[in-house]
Amino acid sequence: MKQKNQKHRVVIIGAGSAGLCMGVQLKKAGVDDFVILEKGNGIGGTWWHNSYPGAECDVQSHLYSFSFEQKNDWSQPFAGQEEILVYLNHIAGKYELRPHLQLNTTVKSTRWQGENARWHVVTESGDEFESHVVISALGMFNNLVWPSIPGIDEFQGTTFHSARWDHSQDLQGKRVGVIGIAASAIQFVPEIASRVEQLYLYQRTANWVVPKDNVPYTQEQLDHFRQNPSVVQENRADIYNMWNTLCTFNDKKLLAEIEKSGLERLAVVEDPDVRRKLTPNHPFGCKRPLFSDVYYPVFNRDNVELLTDTIEKITPSSIVTVDGETRDVDTIIYSTGFETTTYLSALEVTGRDGQRLKDAWSDGAQAYLGMTTAGFPNLFMLYGPNTNQGSILFMLERQCDYITRQLKRMDEEKLAWMDIRPDVMTTFNDQLQKDISRVDVWQADCGNDFYYRSSSGRFVTNWPYTMDEFTARTTQADVDAYEVKAAT
Ligand SMILES: Cc1cc2nc3c(=O)[nH]c(=O)nc-3n(C[C@H](O)[C@H](O)[C@H](O)COP(=O)(O)OP(=O)(O)OC[C@H]3O[C@@H](n4cnc5c(N)ncnc54)[C@H](O)[C@@H]3O)c2cc1C
Repeated sequence: MKQKNQKHRVVIIGAGSAGLCMGVQLKKAGVDDFVILEKGNGIGGTWWHNSYPGAECDVQSHLYSFSFEQKNDWSQPFAGQEEILVYLNHIAGKYELRPHLQLNTTVKSTRWQGENARWHVVTESGDEFESHVVISALGMFNNLVWPSIPGIDEFQGTTFHSARWDHSQDLQGKRVGVIGIAASAIQFVPEIASRVEQLYLYQRTANWVVPKDNVPYTQEQLDHFRQNPSVVQENRADIYNMWNTLCTFNDKKLLAEIEKSGLERLAVVEDPDVRRKLTPNHPFGCKRPLFSDVYYPVFNRDNVELLTDTIEKITPSSIVTVDGETRDVDTIIYSTGFETTTYLSALEVTGRDGQRLKDAWSDGAQAYLGMTTAGFPNLFMLYGPNTNQGSILFMLERQCDYITRQLKRMDEEKLAWMDIRPDVMTTFNDQLQKDISRVDVWQADCGNDFYYRSSSGRFVTNWPYTMDEFTARTTQADVDAYEVKAAT
């Protein structure tokens, strides 16, 4: 039974892949006194919230899965949302995480109490938790971005954000406007195009959409994988090597090959004017890479129109562009993405000496190895600043290992707290930003400012090195990197 004031060794915020992975690692390390607080009514995070038609991962499932729980029979190279969600639920069951879960629990704030070296965590409904350690597993894609367009609130038809798909709405025979054409839209547009009467796609910037080759495995292949798990492991290693090279976005030959394959795929679009509008004018990698085999053919349909003029206003029944064209629609789907750069400062977090995380990060989110930030002892972050790269599940496993080792250290040395030294964090971040500035495609101008960069201009999302490098950095002992205080 849920209590109003709970005390735990560890509070984990979020039950997506990160929170679940952390729970598994804690249990393996013998830490059982933890709770996972999740604002949603289910686990799985990204894959619970994003249920739009056609949602699937962009990193092959043989790698977009945890090493401790390999699944040999993914139905296709890039699994769909439902299959990933089943996988994550399987993990929660198998590793007995469910007793630790508290769903429908939104954390509002957390404050460090120096006097007893505890975090005080408060939820939206006023529940309180006290814990020695807080681990944030909020993800990067939880706060939705809505456009600000004159008249947006006047629209009388149906509207929803693609990240919170309204499954009660039947789009059959409807005139639908999609605003924002990027990662999510290229996945759901092919799914709904044949059902709707008319589809208007409002695109601001043409993205690179490169081949995915997501052909479902045959029964024969699946049997082979099941009987020979080593084949899946070899596959995983090959995929890893490919992403490991791509990660740095500095392999010019590979980038050129990818662009070539994207342009070849684009050639299926019959109308040269549409093809021109779909041709990117920035280098691949400048924006989040997109992968699809089924997106471009959509533009050969009579009921699909690509619009690139800026939207001037929305009326109660239509979308009006600056060229004066009015298009009547029944439904508007906002596929305008996420606020990716806020990280843990989305919550009210107060650390040592009353310092607010928002103030500490006024120049943009920053941390040591993406996991700890100076002045906030015993606070760890998963998928924190500058850890976005390759297979996030691979990156998360490394982070969970690192954090588990820090907890072990606290136990062994009987520490009240540990706090990353400011000079260590600054040295790390100065070098990181210097190396980011050497990645040409991230410096190009493609309107990616609010996906990769905070409002200060600081590049806060991506890890600029390989996944190998992340493993190397996160397996260091880091004993001297922290200021520590012994328990009294
Ligand atoms: C459509 C889509 C496709 C993607 N495809 C890929 C891919 O192919 N490969 C890849 O590597 N990555 C992909 N990603 C990135 C993906 O987010 C990560 O791979 C992974 O899911 C991150 O897990 P997470 O647990 O860190 O975050 P999430 O999965 O976002 O989980 C965070 C959880 O925290 C909860 N939460 C947030 N705030 C609070 C609060 N205040 N209180 C309590 N709970 C809270 C949320 O409800 C959510 O359940 C994709 C993302 C999206 C949106």
